[in-house]
Amino acid sequence: AREIRLAARPKGLPTPEDFELAEVPVPRPGPGELLVRNVLMSVDPYMRGRMNDVKSYVEPFRLGEPLDGGAIGEVVESDAEGFAPGDKVLHGLGWREYAVLDPRHAVKVDPDAAPLGAYLGVLGMTGLTAYAGLLEVAAFKEGEVVFVSGAAGAVGQVAGQVAKLRGAKRVIGSAGSDDKVAFLTGELGFDAAFNYKSGKVADLLAEAAPDGIDVYFDNVGGDHLEAAIASFNDFGRAALCGAISVYNSTSAPTAPRNLGLAVGKRLTLRGFLVRDHGHLRERFQREVGRWVAEGSLRYRETVTSGGLDKAPEAFIGMLRGENLGKALVEL
Ligand code: NDP
Repeated sequence: AREIRLAARPKGLPTPEDFELAEVPVPRPGPGELLVRNVLMSVDPYMRGRMNDVKSYVEPFRLGEPLDGGAIGEVVESDAEGFAPGDKVLHGLGWREYAVLDPRHAVKVDPDAAPLGAYLGVLGMTGLTAYAGLLEVAAFKEGEVVFVSGAAGAVGQVAGQVAKLRGAKRVIGSAGSDDKVAFLTGELGFDAAFNYKSGKVADLLAEAAPDGIDVYFDNVGGDHLEAAIASFNDFGRAALCGAISVYNSTSAPTAPRNLGLAVGKRLTLRGFLVRDHGHLRERFQREVGRWVAEGSLRYRETVTSGGLDKAPEAFIGMLRGENLGKALVEL
C-alpha cells in the first residue's frame, strides 16, 4: 500500500519534491476497528497552512509522516457494529490507499443518494462552509447584495448560489480566469462576475456593484478584502472564510490598507471555522440536498484520476487555480 508523506516544508507554492510517495504494509485493524480502501480524497487549501511549522487551529503536518484529510473509503474489513465490507464511509485519513478507522470517526454515506464526490464537496465540508458562512456568520438577508471571492471554487460556487436561491438582490463573483467568469454568470446564474487578474480588484468590484455590497464572503483576503471594504454599504458584514491569496506568499500582506473604514461604515468582519457550525448540518443537507436534487443548485468537481501518486499535483494545481469547483483525487 502507498501513502503520501510530507518530505519538506514548502517555501511559497509547494513543489512535487515537498512530497514523498512511500510503500507501507497494509495496516491491520484492531478489535472494534475498520479497514478501508480509499477511493476518493479531497485536496483543500487549509492543507497548505498545515505544511508550515506554525501553531494554528489545526496541528501542523509532521515531516516524514503521512498527510491526512477528507476521504471516502470502502470498507474492506469490519469489526464494528453497523459497518460491513462494501460500505462507503467518509473519514479524515486521506493521502493513503488504506486506513484503519475508529468507527466513531467514520460516517457511512449512501452512494445511491448522491455521487461520492458530493460528500466531500457540495453536501459535505465545503458546502457546509458556504452555507454557515453566508447564513449564520454573515447573517445574509433576502434583498441584499452579495460579493463572493474564489467564486468558482468548492466553497464559492455554493455560497453564491445559496445567496441567489435565498433571494439576494444581486450576487457578484470573482475568479481567476475568463472561463471561470463565464461559468459563474452562465451556468451558475451570478448577476455579475469579473476576472481579478484583468485589473485592480477595487475597480472591478466597484463596476460590478454600482450600488455597493452588503455581504462579502471572503475566500481570498488581501486586495479582495480591501476592495470589499471600499465597496461596503453601511452595516455591511464579511464572513472571513479564508485568505488563499496569502497562503503561499513569502512576504507580509500589503492589503487591506483601509481597515479604518470599518469604523465609519460600522462593518462586521467575522472569522469562522466550519467545525463550529455542525448544528447547521442537518438543515444544510436538507435544503442544499433538495436544491441539488431538483437541479436549482449546480456544482462542478475537478477529479484527478490515476491514483494516489497524482495527489500532490492535484493539490498544487488547486492552489494554482486549475480546478473548477471541488478538487478531488480518485484513487
Ligand atoms: P477552491 O476550490 O476555491 O480552490 C482554491 C482556489 O483558490 C483556486 O481554484 C484558485 O482559483 C484560487 N486562488 C489561488 N490563488 C489565489 C490568489 N492568489 N488570489 C485569488 N484566488 C486564488 O478551495 P475551497 O473552496 O476548498 O476553499 C476556498 C477558501 O475557503 C479557502 O480560503 C479555504 O482556506 C477556505 N475554507 C475555510 C473553511 C473554514 O472553516 N473557515 C473551510 C473550508 C475552506 P482562481 O482561478 O479563481 O484563482
